[in-house]
Amino acid sequence: MIDIVHDLIAWKRDGHELDAARMHEFVTGVVEGWVAPYQASALLMAIVLRGLSEAETIALATELVNSGRRYDLSAVGRPVLDKHSSGGVGDKLTLVVGPLVAAAGGCFGKMSGRGLGHTGGTLDKLESIPGFRVSLSHGELVRQLERIGLAVVGLSPRGVPADHLLYSLRDVTATVDEPGLIAASMMSKKIAGGSSAVVLDLKVGSGAFMSDLDQAEELGRLCRAIGAAAGLPTTTLMTAMDEPLGTAVGNRLEVEEAWSVLTGEGPQDVRELSLLLAAEALVLGGGGELVTARERVEAALSDGRAAEYFDRWVHVQGGRWRPGEYQRLARGEVRAEQAGYVVRCDARLVGRAAQLAGAGRQRAEDMVEPAAGALLARKVGDQVETGELLGSVLARDGDRRESARAVLAGAFTVAPGPPPPAALVLDRRGPKES
Ligand code: URA
Repeated sequence: MIDIVHDLIAWKRDGHELDAARMHEFVTGVVEGWVAPYQASALLMAIVLRGLSEAETIALATELVNSGRRYDLSAVGRPVLDKHSSGGVGDKLTLVVGPLVAAAGGCFGKMSGRGLGHTGGTLDKLESIPGFRVSLSHGELVRQLERIGLAVVGLSPRGVPADHLLYSLRDVTATVDEPGLIAASMMSKKIAGGSSAVVLDLKVGSGAFMSDLDQAEELGRLCRAIGAAAGLPTTTLMTAMDEPLGTAVGNRLEVEEAWSVLTGEGPQDVRELSLLLAAEALVLGGGGELVTARERVEAALSDGRAAEYFDRWVHVQGGRWRPGEYQRLARGEVRAEQAGYVVRCDARLVGRAAQLAGAGRQRAEDMVEPAAGALLARKVGDQVETGELLGSVLARDGDRRESARAVLAGAFTVAPGPPPPAALVLDRRGPKES
């Protein structure tokens, strides 16, 4: 075994392709334990340095899926639509998109994850609603999808065990940011989750894994190729993540913001992207043209059906949803030191401030504080006077509050002139586009 593993590492190090048989050896060895973590890390580093081809990426995704169990949602009897983000700050879109899709007649079912580093996770957000259950049995999941067309649950580590093992190594060995590794990791979980089609929201910018548009395009291309090989139609959108989405970052704060969008208020960027992603999901599910799908989701939002679906969904999954009823934590404020325009509100730093305040984890075993986080009073392009509030952090503990406040202060730049306009959606490709 030692020779096999040694040769695999040397093979990739020297620039050769890992064919399906070699990828099988590697992933099986990781799961069965005869590839040691230090050997797996060496191979991951060789992959980061040499890159993964499309064929290698598909082979890796296939092996990751085969390491666990694949959910079968065919009993639901209609397409189960999924939306997935590559990880952002203030990204509460699933909480709006799910109810929009269901209210517009689609069926939305999703396996979600927890917060990772400075980025948030949907499960942590949902668990900030008292009583909300993110673990459903397979039977419960299918019944809920049949009954209300909407469910979001946690994918257990047993779902794709090889990804779970490899991700924990990548996280601590600087081997996360390789498009093929990210594509195989994300798509393996989508395939294992059993949905019929997926819209991927690939974030690009300071707060995302990909800060470079070319790399994000490559990530999207690989995800669509994996989807095509696995029979999972995949649409990709590239969306900006230089500043956070909306104005709330932190678990309960984001649920409140999602609710305000569902009830006709809330920030424009969250509303716009939610409508777009929901419409794209309906199109993938056979809902016709994008324009018609967009009209359907807009109608579901404006007549209150999407908010009703949110209420129903939370109730069915055990949550007690009382908008605005949560414990307010003490605030640390950041104010403008000069008058002008906000030209930068760095998503990574805002995410880091919220994480320090208690909204995210420093270590995997940490608990999150539901009501902790950051609230932005101003966004990029807004005008401010000296001394006006830019944003605040909310934390239970005074020391955490102060360190989070200092990080939030570093996220803002105020300059005399306005910034150039920036697009929210940078690219869109359907399942059949290269
Ligand atoms: N999200 C994932 O699921 N995997 C990655 O590798 C990066 C982001």
